[in-house]
Amino acid sequence: MERRESVQERLAELTERVSAVQAKTDDATARRDAAQSELDVEAASVTKERELVAGSVPADLIKLYEKLREQQGGVGAARLYQRKCEGCHIELNITELNEVRAAAKDTVVRCENCRRILVRTAESGL
Ligand SMILES: [Zn+2]
Repeated sequence: MERRESVQERLAELTERVSAVQAKTDDATARRDAAQSELDVEAASVTKERELVAGSVPADLIKLYEKLREQQGGVGAARLYQRKCEGCHIELNITELNEVRAAAKDTVVRCENCRRILVRTAESGL
């Protein structure tokens, strides 16, 4: 009789623990689903923005960028900042810097090391 009560108590305890774990699982699942929804909304927004920007870039440049992006682990262009390519983090030598400086503003310049398209900005000083 005592043994039966002991088993029933243990069963109740384990049932309660299963319920607690299930509640935690349900909570985590709900948080994951909410985060996924936020990411879906953000992805849709960024995709739309990208399409708008891509529409203003010449097709051959987009093609080059997509090819480089595929080859370079998802990053086809990188900012040139303080003489450094932010794609490979290698500093351009003086000859390369002079070539970039001499290039027209609309010329596509590329990193000699990683071959990514270098994005010149006002901070590039070039
Ligand atoms: Zn580079």
